[in-house]
Amino acid sequence: MQLLKERILKDGTVKPGNILKVDSFLNHQMDIPFINEIGKEFKRRFAGSPITKILTIEASGIGIACIVAQYFGVPVVFAKKAQSLNLDGEMYTTKVQSFTHKKVYDVILSKKFLQPEDHVLIIDDFLANGCALQGLIEIVDTAGATLEGAGIVIEKGFQHGGDALREKGIRVESLAIVDSMSNDSLTFRA
Ligand code: 5GP
Repeated sequence: MQLLKERILKDGTVKPGNILKVDSFLNHQMDIPFINEIGKEFKRRFAGSPITKILTIEASGIGIACIVAQYFGVPVVFAKKAQSLNLDGEMYTTKVQSFTHKKVYDVILSKKFLQPEDHVLIIDDFLANGCALQGLIEIVDTAGATLEGAGIVIEKGFQHGGDALREKGIRVESLAIVDSMSNDSLTFRA
């Protein structure tokens, strides 16, 4: 998505540890007209899929997923990160290694919000090693729902999480795939 690539080049900054900061427009301060364009683009790409629910993970996926959901006319459900679990049996749970915080989180989702008849589109801001996405996919599988695919705003292609999931046959649509980045240059996959 050309608009997104231009915005990353204009406003993104590269931090130590392979972190791309886009917090002036995407995941801290949010540029809503811009994220609306992202919503339209995901709707265009998944127009042929019978999506009934959008699934994301807190925190930074939520705002984006809500805007995207307006183009699909379906609810958003977000997986919660919990430091310690007090399970009552009505939750799907999995563990996710956080890329940015270098911690393992328990991730939980109430069973009542994901049913076998659901067709799910997962939305997230970033895809790096793919741990967050794998955790969400595991929850969809456990629920017996149908995964239609994943819509990612920015994929860091050099961390290969996306390619591994595509090799498993999962439809991963990333609006910009960063191939390399350093303090003074950033390149995209064509
Ligand atoms: P993964 O699980 O694919 O390794 O990492 C995905 C998660 O880590 C995303 O949900 C995102 O919140 C965070 N993340 C990974 N890489 C970056 C990055 O370069 N910049 C930012 N802001 N977040 C990232």
